[in-house]
Amino acid sequence: MGTKKIKISHQRDKCIGCGSCASYAPNYWRMNAEDGKADLIGGKEKGNVIVVEIEKDDLAQNKKAAKACPMQIIKVHDE
Ligand code: SF4
Repeated sequence: MGTKKIKISHQRDKCIGCGSCASYAPNYWRMNAEDGKADLIGGKEKGNVIVVEIEKDDLAQNKKAAKACPMQIIKVHDE
C-alpha cells in the first residue's frame, strides 16, 4: 500500500526568517526572497498553517528543522 505519509505544518505568519529549517531540510524549506520568511515547498494553506505531506525517509531532517525553529512553529504530525 506504499509508505505512510506524514504531515508537517508551518505557521508562516509567525516566522522570523532565521533560516534554520532551510539549512536542515532544504528539500522542503526555502527562504522567500520577497518577505524573508520560510516557504514550505509544495505546501497548501489550511486555516492559519501551511501543510505538506512528507516521505518517512525525510522525517528525521524535518524533525531537526522543527526542533531548531526558535519560534516553534513547525509541527511534525507523525502519530
Ligand atoms: S526555523 Fe522557524 S523561524 Fe526560522 S525560518 Fe524556519 S520556520 Fe521561520
